[in-house]
Amino acid sequence: MTQAGYIAIVGRPNVGKSTLINHILGQKIAITSRKPQTTRHALMGIFTEEDKQIVFIDTPGIHSDGKKAINRHMNRAAWQSMDYVDAVVQVSEVGQWTDDDQRVADGVAKLSMPKIHVLNKIDKIHDKSVLFAELEQRNALTDWHAIVPVSATHSRNTDELLKVLYQLLPEQAWIFPEDQITTAGMRFMASETIREKLFRYLHQEIPYELGVIIEKYEEKKGVVHIDATIMVERDSQKGIVIGKGGKTLKAVGQAAREDLERMLEQKVMLRNFVKVKENWRDNNAIINSMGLGSGTEEEK
Ligand code: GDP
Ligand code: MG
Repeated sequence: MTQAGYIAIVGRPNVGKSTLINHILGQKIAITSRKPQTTRHALMGIFTEEDKQIVFIDTPGIHSDGKKAINRHMNRAAWQSMDYVDAVVQVSEVGQWTDDDQRVADGVAKLSMPKIHVLNKIDKIHDKSVLFAELEQRNALTDWHAIVPVSATHSRNTDELLKVLYQLLPEQAWIFPEDQITTAGMRFMASETIREKLFRYLHQEIPYELGVIIEKYEEKKGVVHIDATIMVERDSQKGIVIGKGGKTLKAVGQAAREDLERMLEQKVMLRNFVKVKENWRDNNAIINSMGLGSGTEEEK
């Protein structure tokens, strides 16, 4: 039986989340590098080794400044949307424990799934007693399943972290089938990029009611062909997305294409279609085809 699960990675900016995930994933799959505010979940990457698969998830709202009302709201939504993950990993760094770290830890403590704390950047410490003091402080925060000291940049103890994560993966079929692994991350990145541009060009006129499905993602002769369907809930919204004489949709498509070309370092042919589909957010098949898998916030 295979093991597979979602693992959320949380932590304030700069503690080394991306570095750690990059290190674990190696060159196995590309990951999303840009995290628009509009994203509730960003796939950081899919790690598959032998019979085990980990889908690393980032929940951007969690890292934002809790002082602003809009961020507080996003924060709440972000934490609520975490309940489908199999484990949550908080990353922090040695020698620094800020209010933002504490805020993340407070949120993590309220979650019911297994929690792991990763104390990163241990290469910076030479005095063992300092390390022990830090570990003790993290230990007191909540009932961690494990606390794992690592150095992401120096590849220290990251194998141990994987071992711990493996213990927490449920026995089940893979979330992303083998033949999809290579494009799943790319598809997700493409849909998020288009979503980001839509939000920018629509000036939040119809937030949260847009969905982007990647219908086709194909590489032919060095060119990536992407067909995307933008889903809206009402006819009036379709008009807004398309804009006068197709102006808005064109601008969105061009900006998204430019970003994708930069990220993929390849030429991209992007076609966008707009469809009205009432209550698309309640439709599991659509949610799954967006690469979000089962049990996302929209589904509940
Ligand atoms: P994120 O904002 O949490 O994703 O953090 P990043 O992965 O972007 O890392 C922030 C900074 O910390 C970068 O300059 C990294 O090179 C550095 N960094 C990450 N991991 C380590 C580590 O294990 N040791 C040291 N010394 N620096 C690290
Ligand atoms: Mg990062």
